[in-house]
Amino acid sequence: MKRVEIKITGIVQGIGFRPYIYNLAQKHFIRGWVLNNEKGVFIDAEGEDGYLDQFIQEIPKLAPPLARIESFQVKLLKPFGYITFEIRKSEEAQEKFVLISPDVATCDQCLSELFSQKNFRYRYPFINCTLCGPRFTIIQDIPYDRHKTTMAPFVMCPICQKEYEDPSDRRFHAQPNACPACGPSLHLEDRERKEVPGDSIENTLQLLKMGCIVAIKGLGGFHLACDARNQKAVSALRSRKFREDKPFAVMCSNMEEVKEHCEVNEEEEKLLLSVERPIVILRSKGNSTIAHAVAPYQDTLGVMLPYSPLHHLLLNGPLKTLVMTSGNISDEPIAYENEEAKSRLGNIADYFLFHNREIHMRCDDSVTRIVEGKPYILRRSRGYVPFPIKLSFPLEMILACGGELKNTFCLTRGQYAFMSHHIGDLENLETLTSFEEGIEHFKRLFYIEPRAIAYDLHPDYLSTKYALSIPDLPKVWTQHHHAHIVSAMAENGIEGDVIGVALDGTGFGTDSTIWGGEFIKANLKDFDRLAHLKKVPMPGGSMAIKEPWRMAMVYLSEAFGEEVKDLKIDLMRKGDPQKWNILKKAIKKKINTPWTSSMGRLFDAVSSLLSIRDEVHYEGQAAIELEMVADRSVKEKYSFHLRQDEKPMVIDSTEMIRGIVHDLTEGTPSSKISGKFHQTIAHLIVETCEIIRSEEKLNRVVLSGGVFQNIFLLSLVAEGLKRSGFDMYTHHLVPTNDGGISLGQAVIAHMRLFQCA
Ligand code: ZN
Ligand code: ZN
Ligand code: FE
Repeated sequence: MKRVEIKITGIVQGIGFRPYIYNLAQKHFIRGWVLNNEKGVFIDAEGEDGYLDQFIQEIPKLAPPLARIESFQVKLLKPFGYITFEIRKSEEAQEKFVLISPDVATCDQCLSELFSQKNFRYRYPFINCTLCGPRFTIIQDIPYDRHKTTMAPFVMCPICQKEYEDPSDRRFHAQPNACPACGPSLHLEDRERKEVPGDSIENTLQLLKMGCIVAIKGLGGFHLACDARNQKAVSALRSRKFREDKPFAVMCSNMEEVKEHCEVNEEEEKLLLSVERPIVILRSKGNSTIAHAVAPYQDTLGVMLPYSPLHHLLLNGPLKTLVMTSGNISDEPIAYENEEAKSRLGNIADYFLFHNREIHMRCDDSVTRIVEGKPYILRRSRGYVPFPIKLSFPLEMILACGGELKNTFCLTRGQYAFMSHHIGDLENLETLTSFEEGIEHFKRLFYIEPRAIAYDLHPDYLSTKYALSIPDLPKVWTQHHHAHIVSAMAENGIEGDVIGVALDGTGFGTDSTIWGGEFIKANLKDFDRLAHLKKVPMPGGSMAIKEPWRMAMVYLSEAFGEEVKDLKIDLMRKGDPQKWNILKKAIKKKINTPWTSSMGRLFDAVSSLLSIRDEVHYEGQAAIELEMVADRSVKEKYSFHLRQDEKPMVIDSTEMIRGIVHDLTEGTPSSKISGKFHQTIAHLIVETCEIIRSEEKLNRVVLSGGVFQNIFLLSLVAEGLKRSGFDMYTHHLVPTNDGGISLGQAVIAHMRLFQCA
């Protein structure tokens, strides 16, 4: 007989850990108790030698999928002689702070009950247990208890109540526990708000099969759904949603169906099946029967698997793949309330599949892909949020307000950085309200009262204006690209000076120009700009982003001067010289023409030069399509010039533009030119890092910024840096795009204000 005390810290509360321990103890004839306190889970366990050892070994191995064990300590104690194993009442926590679980995909046990005719929850679309179901999106306040969730209005029936109170039951303290007798229910309405009688799921399926668009209320908001094989339905959805060609995500019934349409490797399969159930961007197969309009001009497809019981029921029928896109009009936040959906989506959806459980926090689907065998998160939201990013050292409580596009905010507490769900592009009142409400909610959930506020240097960002409007708190500005780099440093747990390569579309610089092709010497506190792309004018400001042909003309005239008009390339043939003349005057007179060192704009320019895209319908489109056509077998590159005599060093791409024009006039295919262009950019990144290394004696390179969503470029750069002996770091936990900068902002603010040295 042996007795041990086990202390477990990490994410072990509110995720079914105690019932799990209870059942594991039963299995191995262990006696004693388990309890929660503010430090974690404590177990006092007594049993026979062999059984006790197995019990200890199995705890981390079989833990609930949401558990994240950070430390596991076992101490031998004198035997006591317990008779039973019990779950003790939690010690009144000194500190009320606990972690909160994200929403979790339906578990296998619930799934088999869902489809088991004998089960009283057969086909019940809200089945869940301690291991699965809604969490973050239904929590109104803490502590996490049913009456503080949107499940409060549903009084549990005796059967549900019994499960809820039984420590050996899978539904012990499962706050959203429900059944058809006592829980939420579905109803289907048409556009005239008339309820459609009958089985809502069967009816919805019929409507989808007929080509209708149905707004479906999910975990974190409404999806707009239609049959992904029905070209007409998908096109109708596009035009009603005012979304010209930005790809839609789809939901497939199972892995087999995913493989019908996409190439899937082992890691991608794992990510698709993970409890987070994100959208995974996969390479699409040429013979897929999915309508072209789902992802026009793309060789990839964003795919997810069903993650709620309702999804499983919908996809268990004849339709194996549905378009499931956010329920919003263009860039607004996703609709999440029934009345709101009726008014906002009334002109898009033909029918509405509602349920009567409220969503407290809207939360979009997360978007990921696998890069070099590892997950690469492009939008960190449902399934991940509000799990914190663990930092390598504790921070003061700080609110970081993020950027403008793909905004997230971040609140820190000790070693935890709580990054928010995807808020969206902070460009309208609707999104701003969602941002402000989100901040208040997170502050309450995690007992965070910020001592400082971090914000982006850009004076016009709504997030900046919000930060500056908060009274009585110290405020710390952060430069956009520095924040990108520190964000990547923080998630990798590195400190000290590094070479930061921050490449993106737009970020406000300390000289009030727009940066975006930046090489900085950075640490967690400060940075020094060492090199950047040569500055060029952006005629029309934001119009130059929407119309890449403008950047193409700028780069051409930089390279050729007055000879531009004689160039025998498509852009000149189809372009309107009149329009260009107006822009030239604007540049000369400095009217609405900021200057930029942006890498994103250079990609835009080349995309337009190759006649791939002259005007974009969504952020990054020109660059994405340029990446897509690239011939990856090309090894040649163009020449470029590093002006080392200037400080910061200037990377001049004039020669490259001349090379591209030369290739164009020779009739070289776009695929080849794009391949060469990517090789050139990768090469200039590595070469610039090499020069910086020899001067600064730094060997660690950190990559960040939206340009690194370009996987082809990222892999070329990684390869080149490795070959040159650099240690390279990039993102895996937070997005490389602007959705990731709030983390970096928080760390910078902490270092500036609270870290002396
Ligand atoms: Zn379950
Ligand atoms: Zn019930
Ligand atoms: Fe950025």
